Amino acid sequence: EHFPVVIVGAGPAGLTIGAILRAAGVDCLVLETETREFIEQRPRAGVLEEWAVRGLRQRGLADNLTERAQLHTECEFRFGGERFRFSYAELTGQHHFVYPQQFLVTDLVREYADVRGGEIRFGVRDVRLLDLDTSVPSVSYISARTGQREVVRCDFVAGCDGARGVTRTVLPPTAEISRHDYGVGWLALLAEAPPSNDCVVFGIHPNGFAGHMARSPEVTRYYLECPPGDDPENWSHERVWSELQQRLGAADRPSLTEGRLIEKRVLDMHNYIVEPMVFGRLFLAGDAAHLTAPIAAKGMNLALHDAYLLGDALVAYLTKGEESGLDAYSQTCLRRVWDYQEFSEWLSGVYHGTSSGDPYRAGTTFARLRRLFTSPAAAAAFAEQYLGTAPAY
Ligand code: FAD
Repeated sequence: EHFPVVIVGAGPAGLTIGAILRAAGVDCLVLETETREFIEQRPRAGVLEEWAVRGLRQRGLADNLTERAQLHTECEFRFGGERFRFSYAELTGQHHFVYPQQFLVTDLVREYADVRGGEIRFGVRDVRLLDLDTSVPSVSYISARTGQREVVRCDFVAGCDGARGVTRTVLPPTAEISRHDYGVGWLALLAEAPPSNDCVVFGIHPNGFAGHMARSPEVTRYYLECPPGDDPENWSHERVWSELQQRLGAADRPSLTEGRLIEKRVLDMHNYIVEPMVFGRLFLAGDAAHLTAPIAAKGMNLALHDAYLLGDALVAYLTKGEESGLDAYSQTCLRRVWDYQEFSEWLSGVYHGTSSGDPYRAGTTFARLRRLFTSPAAAAAFAEQYLGTAPAY
């Protein structure tokens, strides 16, 4: 069996690449360890930047999103019981789109498989990559249907299997992997409760950072800074809501609307970046190539950025023999990746400085916040990074 492209992983990156290839008449196969039902319900990210939505629209992948996403124009910082609104849309003319990741994945599966006729093999196990440094690589896996190992030959492999996948593990020692550990955990929560504010809220508090992000009229994502490796069982319903009320409280606002917690897991906040994102005929995309802790809500956006570039580059090569897109792929992706990494690093200083117990870090945190709300130049620079609109990419 032979496909021009085998895509490992049916997340936002892999499915977008598949949809781009199918639209250009290039055949491909997607391999996914989970079931369709599972990936269509897995809640994670929810914030998309305007250029990312434009990219989906241009490729005919944003019909439902355009109808259902909420537009956000402001965010709010809370500290010392006070609220500070930041109107980024006013400064940039651009918005954030709030659209839960599982809705996007559902749209992409439907478009790739049901509309454009692409094939996905779900429930595969033990995926292995072979002969990547030749022009005839292959991918093998244990099929859910037959229980047997099957082999697929291809021209290219797109490694889109996220942070826990296998494609990154086959890189040779020459690949450089940079890592950064923030030394903090975030308890990631989903509450069956309507949002308690009309925009995202960042609570800067001596007990630790807290975040409030709308996902839908019925569900809200919250984050609570906690020790890395903490056990979610240490966080009872009562403790979660008491900390959220405290860290996100503002004197002139009613308390948060509480609800049942339907997700509760600890994320150890860390990042990594693989350079280059290419090894022979293997091209990594999304979290497989670079992880960005959800500090600045950038991960899904970067996955889409890679997918647009790789999808278009593979189409150009496989239909017209043009190599320039594939040659530039890694470098072009990494410019935006590093820029977002640097912004996350800066924002982490703001979120975690006050709770670090270090008066020096607390002092610089407040200096950063004061600058944001007093200097128009600092505000413009923040808005540009928050929305990913810098021209340098
Ligand atoms: P994934 O979505 O991880 O998809 C990879 C796919 O590969 C999965 O379906 C997986 O099952 C499959 N797979 C894994 N191993 C194998 C294998 N060996 N073989 C075959 N398939 C395999 N980003 C934002 O932009 N904004 C946010 O607000 C945000 N919030 C987040 C909150 C949380 C709690 C988390 C965990 C992440 C958040 N992110 C956010 C990050 C975002 O979810 C990821 O960056 C995004 O999912 C990356 O997409 P991907 O396609 O690269 O990888």
